Amino acid sequence: MQPIYYRSITEIRQALDAGKLTSRQLMDVLIDRSEAVDDRIGAFLHRDFVDARAQADAADARRKSGKSLGPLDGIPVAIKDVLAVKGQPLTCASRMLEDFISPYDAGCISRLKAQGCILWGRLNMDEFAMGSATENSAFQKTRNPWDTDRTPGGSSGGSAAAVAAGEAIAALGTDTGGSVRQPAAFCGIVGVKPTYGRISRHGLVAYASSLDQVGTCTRTIADAALLLDAICGHDALDSTSLDLPKTDFVAALREDQQQPRKIGIAREFFGAGLDPEVKACMDAAIRFYKSHGCEILDISLPNVSLAVPVYYLIATAEASSNLARFDGVRYTHRSESANDAINLFSKSRAEGFGAEVKRRILLGTFVLSTGYYDAYYLRAQKIRTLIRQDFEQAFRKVDAILSPAAPTPAFPIGAHKEDPLALYLSDLHTIPVNLAGLPALSLPCGFTDSGLPVGMQLIGKALGEAGILQLAQRFESAHDFNRQTPSL
Ligand code: GLN
Repeated sequence: MQPIYYRSITEIRQALDAGKLTSRQLMDVLIDRSEAVDDRIGAFLHRDFVDARAQADAADARRKSGKSLGPLDGIPVAIKDVLAVKGQPLTCASRMLEDFISPYDAGCISRLKAQGCILWGRLNMDEFAMGSATENSAFQKTRNPWDTDRTPGGSSGGSAAAVAAGEAIAALGTDTGGSVRQPAAFCGIVGVKPTYGRISRHGLVAYASSLDQVGTCTRTIADAALLLDAICGHDALDSTSLDLPKTDFVAALREDQQQPRKIGIAREFFGAGLDPEVKACMDAAIRFYKSHGCEILDISLPNVSLAVPVYYLIATAEASSNLARFDGVRYTHRSESANDAINLFSKSRAEGFGAEVKRRILLGTFVLSTGYYDAYYLRAQKIRTLIRQDFEQAFRKVDAILSPAAPTPAFPIGAHKEDPLALYLSDLHTIPVNLAGLPALSLPCGFTDSGLPVGMQLIGKALGEAGILQLAQRFESAHDFNRQTPSL
């Protein structure tokens, strides 16, 4: 049996229910573990042990008095520092919000609280979720538990690394262009980004509102289903939140009839630049599904080659508008040297934002400016529609699309320092999914010869989470990639 900190929620639930473990003991194990390894990993920006233990004690008391709140009661979930938890820091890994304490709970956080989850820890990320390596945090770098000279991916690098290192059982991240799936792939864990609108964005500090979505980082598919069932659902405080019947992905997994499915392989996702070891893992996964009765079909998504530039126009445009609120006047960093109003804005923003955030605000302001709006922003929106239609077309023929989650395994820290464009291009497998608003997940599907995890992506049709979760679980239950742990 694995040490407690490497177990799944499902296994821990059994131990809690059998009286073999208390939430307090579990919390202490995780605190000890993070004390032991986080100086090497750097997943957490903030941890409040006193508060975490108090939440654990409260869960134990509920269980004792028979008032348990459900399957997640007493389960610690660590949170990316972009989601508001009342009374906890909310920095978005930015100097701009260095001293900010959240006055309220995000929609998904209220739901986890209602289930009795222990919400502890603030996880490192790229500043305002802009990046693919967690190197853009204003405070620290996070390291990949499998090789600490490498990045954990990003922007939810802290979330994925914490789970992979056994510092957290599960974590929440956010995914605007792949920020849950790519770090999950780099760190050898499961990352799920549901359909846009499934999870409230209220209390998620906005980067690119039409693309942002909360996602889960867990060890297993079953754990992802448990968490998703808890956090999906309508929220009147988010105007893009979908009002749908309650999800029951846990039941969907339990009731999977193993019917053969049609899986599409898009040639655009297997082009030049794909690492041969990643390709080999995809080939093995395709063989697995074939031998388990699935039909593998070649498909084409002709416009996805434009997804990365389209994304960087739309995302930066939205970011330039969303980040205008950080003005030095209200709750943000305020420059000490400002002597008039204009100065106050410009100096506070110059001091508060890091280089990547500034680069994106500049780009976004440019593409929205008079004279350029039609040429860039409007055209990008039109191509976004074409990309969505490509997927719609494909999903008339197939039930799911399989691809790598990222073209390479985790790259060395600093590898793209001089060339942000190369880093932007590495998001080519994940970004089209956000542009189309579809659900997708990344699950461990192998290792490179040097021991780095490889992740496969399964993309579903809109609201088709249950289908891809089922497919993923079939693969997971026949392999043990997610049972392997880094030596730390
Ligand atoms: N890497 C992408 C970006 O930098 C995606 C980030 C995200 O999903 N938050 O924008």
